[in-house]
Amino acid sequence: MVFPSLAEMKKVVFVLGGPGSGKGTQCEKIVQNFGYVHLSAGDLLREERANPNSKHGELIEDYIRNGKIVPVEITCSLLKDAMEKSNSQHFLIDGFPRSEENLNGWNKEMSNEVHLQFVLYFDCPQEVCLERCLKRGSAGSGRSDDNVDSLKKRFNTYVNDTMPIIEHYNGLNLLRKVCANKDADAVFADVKSIFEKEN
Ligand code: UDP
Ligand code: MG
Repeated sequence: MVFPSLAEMKKVVFVLGGPGSGKGTQCEKIVQNFGYVHLSAGDLLREERANPNSKHGELIEDYIRNGKIVPVEITCSLLKDAMEKSNSQHFLIDGFPRSEENLNGWNKEMSNEVHLQFVLYFDCPQEVCLERCLKRGSAGSGRSDDNVDSLKKRFNTYVNDTMPIIEHYNGLNLLRKVCANKDADAVFADVKSIFEKEN
């Protein structure tokens, strides 16, 4: 097997943070300013759920509504397909990996082909995140998980399954933490300086 050199490898930045911490909003700004392609794992799963030919639609709906983490084989293959379809070499992977199972599945499948630049982490108090998601829900996000019941489960999963992944990357010196409890432009000023430094 021939491995690509670092220069030939696709580059990814993982974007993590609680539900409502602003991952999607900030990713749009990063795309505009730094030319990355944004792949939201949650959006890809919602697209797959909406595809009548998919065998995973019902499973995905059940997992999303209950704030559980979809098996990595499904999520990783959606991410991989999206990366292969794109001509870009630079990707923001938003909302993934969220668990040890996600991380191991990704590493097994992708770590030889893809270089992880760093992990961008949006740190935001839970009550602020909750308020943002409920606001998004009542403004018609159409998401089956922007309600108090689902949000409780999503926060639980975040604390139990995703925080250890964030800690893991911190230990590898790959974590870039941003305070996300500010308006979007103020948060982006911090994000921008991280990307300027890293690229
Ligand atoms: N999800 C998942 N694996 C992923 C990303 C998302 O299983 O890699 C599911 C999970 O049920 C999660 C939901 O999709 O609660 C919504 O994720 P999204 O990232 O869209 O929500 P956010 O955290 O951005 O509010
Ligand atoms: Mg999102």
